[in-house]
Amino acid sequence: MSSVVVEARAVRKAFGRTEALRGTSLAVDEGEVVAITGPSGSGKSTLLLCLAGVLRPEAGEIWYAGRKLDDLSESDRTRLRRREFGLVLQFGQLVPELSGAQNVALPLLLEKHDRGAANTLAHSWLERLDALEVADALPGEMSGGEAQRVAIARALVTGPRVIFADEPTGALDTVSGERVLGALMTTARESGATVVLVTHDNRVAASADREVVIRDGAVCPAPVIR
Ligand code: ADP
Repeated sequence: MSSVVVEARAVRKAFGRTEALRGTSLAVDEGEVVAITGPSGSGKSTLLLCLAGVLRPEAGEIWYAGRKLDDLSESDRTRLRRREFGLVLQFGQLVPELSGAQNVALPLLLEKHDRGAANTLAHSWLERLDALEVADALPGEMSGGEAQRVAIARALVTGPRVIFADEPTGALDTVSGERVLGALMTTARESGATVVLVTHDNRVAASADREVVIRDGAVCPAPVIR
């Protein structure tokens, strides 16, 4: 039987006079890979960031594993995000002064892991993501694809239950985009993680279990399959 792990219920979110989400609902099952697609500006990233507990909606509810995120204090939400969620954004957002391995180890150090153990785990995740060659490189010395694979290793190193990815291949050429996506999907499926992925790429959406289309801040009804 499927069980919902993360859910938005009738969520509204505005930026000034722009209504980014207009009563949007989406429930994602444990272990499911969901692609959120739709035109630019339709509210995909806003929905992802609300689900990930980064943005607070003005109305509606966000639920994670039976807990209402909206009721948590800022520090509890941050702690929950760090422990349970992995976030991958379009440009990796690595810390420029830290090496690849140090970037991957960072979430573990923030959770007070032993430095040596964190370093070992960081290297093993870089290896799984085929990015060991940039373990000692600074982000400025990496290609876009390498930086993105390091960002995915950093998102996965804590063993998150849900991975949120916003256009993770959007800034890459086709070949490195496919490599990054393949690495993300394989590692997520191996670890049984749930994935919520924003993309405008049809091939990326096709590799998901389900595609959810957002238009004008609302989920489009599922097509009728005859
Ligand atoms: P998408 O991911 O589908 O491209 P977004 O969720 O980024 O759409 O944006 C939805 C709408 O909200 C757009 O009109 C966008 O300009 C606006 N928006 C998103 N984030 C902000 C922000 N931080 N400040 C102001 N407007 C924003």
